[in-house]
Amino acid sequence: MAELSAAGETGANRLTVSDDTKMRSPEALCFEQVTKSYGTEAGAVEVLRGVSFSLDTGEAMAVTGPSGSGKSTLLHLAATLETPTSGSIRIGGEEAHDLPERELATFRSRRVGLVFQDHYLLPQYTMLQNVLLPTVAAGNGENDAEARARALLERVGLGARVDHRPAQLSGGERQRAAIVRAVINRPSLLLCDEPTGNLDGETAGSVADLLLELHGDEKSALIVVTHSLELAERLPRRVELRAGLIEEVAPEQAAGG
Ligand code: ADP
Ligand code: MG
Repeated sequence: MAELSAAGETGANRLTVSDDTKMRSPEALCFEQVTKSYGTEAGAVEVLRGVSFSLDTGEAMAVTGPSGSGKSTLLHLAATLETPTSGSIRIGGEEAHDLPERELATFRSRRVGLVFQDHYLLPQYTMLQNVLLPTVAAGNGENDAEARARALLERVGLGARVDHRPAQLSGGERQRAAIVRAVINRPSLLLCDEPTGNLDGETAGSVADLLLELHGDEKSALIVVTHSLELAERLPRRVELRAGLIEEVAPEQAAGG
């Protein structure tokens, strides 16, 4: 924890942990022979059967595959929300899953940004408050957090809506705010599970634009789980999950559909 606590309140201090890690290893995420099964009354469900891949800092990858193929499971493992049955998962070179639960929670809130199909904004809070919540969880509150939140909300076109509550916004606007909330702590990993799944085509396109722009600005590694080939094709790399295993889709195939 001493190392993590060194990530201070100011933007300048906060550079220490992540940049240091990035310098030693450009690897943002690495899965090695990861398996995941769930025990159910009807027997074990083997979801992932030995998944290996690595993602560099700044890299972006789409994960596609049929419904039930384990896309969300893979994302939850990368987010440290689930523990692998076997194999190793390193985030920025660290075996995050080995951390005790309390440290893991801090690690997660500092290093991982999550966007889901549903925005999960809290209805009783304003957009600004919603976006600031992860900074409190990560101990990065105060100082520049509010200024950064306001600047990012402005950037995504919600400058005039900072004091509004989620119910007063459209689906696309709520998802923009959810993306801002995901990047507020400058995570090294930005993980999105069907981020445009609830939006109509045009809104989905503009939310995807925004996601890719922010990923570029923030230099996080990005994983987008999606069944939308249109969205997947906008990312430079695509892997497909099939029968519990991962397959790289060649770029020309990825681009050509
Ligand atoms: P996808 O996101 O690709 O649709 P998921 O990762 O959600 O797939 O699920 C993969 C498989 O794992 C499905 O068959 C699902 O029913 C099963 N599964 C997911 N979570 C659990 C759980 N907690 N217990 C048992 N089975 C689960
Ligand atoms: Mg899913």
